[in-house]
Amino acid sequence: MQYKPYTLHNFKDIPQIRTLSEQQIKDIEIVGTVLPFRTNNYVVDNLINWDKVADDPLFITTFPQKGMLSPNDYELIREFLDGGANADVIQKTAGKIRAKLNPHPAGQLQHNTPTVEGEMLEGIQHKYRETVLFFPGQGQTCHAYCTFCFRWPQFVTGMEDLKIASREVGRLVDYLKIRPEVTDVLITGGDPMVMKAGILARYLEPLLELPNLKTIRIGTRTLSFWPHRYVTDTDAEDVLGLFRKVVQAGKHLSFMAHFNHPVELKPDIVKEAVRLIQQTGTVVRTQSPLLRHVNDSPDVWAELWRQQTTLGCVPYYMFMARDTGAQHFFSVTLAGAWEIYQQAFQAVSGIGRTAEGPVMSALPGKIQVMGATTIAGEKVFALRMVQGRNPDWVNRPFFAAFDEKAVWFNQLKPAFGDGEFFFDEELAALLESGETESDF
Ligand SMILES: *Cc1c(COP(=O)(O)O)cnc(C)c1O
Ligand code: SF4
Repeated sequence: MQYKPYTLHNFKDIPQIRTLSEQQIKDIEIVGTVLPFRTNNYVVDNLINWDKVADDPLFITTFPQKGMLSPNDYELIREFLDGGANADVIQKTAGKIRAKLNPHPAGQLQHNTPTVEGEMLEGIQHKYRETVLFFPGQGQTCHAYCTFCFRWPQFVTGMEDLKIASREVGRLVDYLKIRPEVTDVLITGGDPMVMKAGILARYLEPLLELPNLKTIRIGTRTLSFWPHRYVTDTDAEDVLGLFRKVVQAGKHLSFMAHFNHPVELKPDIVKEAVRLIQQTGTVVRTQSPLLRHVNDSPDVWAELWRQQTTLGCVPYYMFMARDTGAQHFFSVTLAGAWEIYQQAFQAVSGIGRTAEGPVMSALPGKIQVMGATTIAGEKVFALRMVQGRNPDWVNRPFFAAFDEKAVWFNQLKPAFGDGEFFFDEELAALLESGETESDF
């Protein structure tokens, strides 16, 4: 199959678009003017049920929806488009709206970019001791864009100063040489698997020489959006050969596949792609955000975990939707998320209970909601960090006052009338000194 992308400029060529109402098409144009929009022929023909787009998870995942903009912003763009305003004016306004949508949540740009001898290492993030994130320059796009994406500035022209990318793997290698505590590199994006095998090899091969590096992870959504990458693309065999080479060099290759809904696992070509990847000795782990309108039901998660474990994949994380872009459209409350997690967890066998969740990637670390309970007469959330800017914070139980409406950690208050969480003071000092993990 030939890959055919659809964006704001050509989406009306999609044959199924004719099944939408005029208003629905208009909504796509208006919201797509502000938020990145891209889908492709595989998604359109295999994952979307065009008979029920109003609540179809994959339609909502790749097509902009009216509710993703505030009513005011929606009206503003609608008036411009209807009135035939000039493109510059529209772009300027779209830019202003984007700037309001918290393009870099949890301080990822200021606090996670390491500095060596006063120089910021672009395209590298180091927040947790063992793991470094690397953003290869040619991997900062995707086969389709998710409407909930927290990396969305990567795809918008005019947000250049907010992009994270590097073309120099040499700097990553130099950095890892002075940071022997780093055991894991996560190659991420965008989607690094949009790269041709030869380019990906240029990034991966230098890493194989580093003795302290044990695991290379590749974060990707290709199994959902373009599984042909591993089966029929002209360089599919080269990609699998590269994976084999990494494994043969003695590294653990972990393929971090992002799936949101069981419908993404259904096509035979996905199963074939998983099998081919696993045959190289690569382990396929899976992670997904929990999203209203897409997968906010325990049945969907139980089915996702069940199908993944049947394929020999290992569920890894259930994430909370981040406070960026259209979060208001997708967010599930922490209380609701925990219930979904718990019910899904109860519905699968132990083999399927490997995903940690619900987890928020917040400023201090990855914070998991362990549950809601009552202690000494007060209703509380039991929390723990799965990862922390300071490794010493990890896995200590702590408590926040129960809040039925909260959707993110910054809305929670410490329980029992405490003035602050146990890590607050240290966190403030860390951020103040600029001494994030990278400077330890
Ligand atoms: C999640 C995450 C990691 C990886 O954490 P693990 O618990 O090892 O999977 C690394 N860096 C950042 C910034 C992260 O958000
Ligand atoms: S595939 Fe990943 S990086 Fe790309 S748009 Fe979706 S969530 Fe964002």
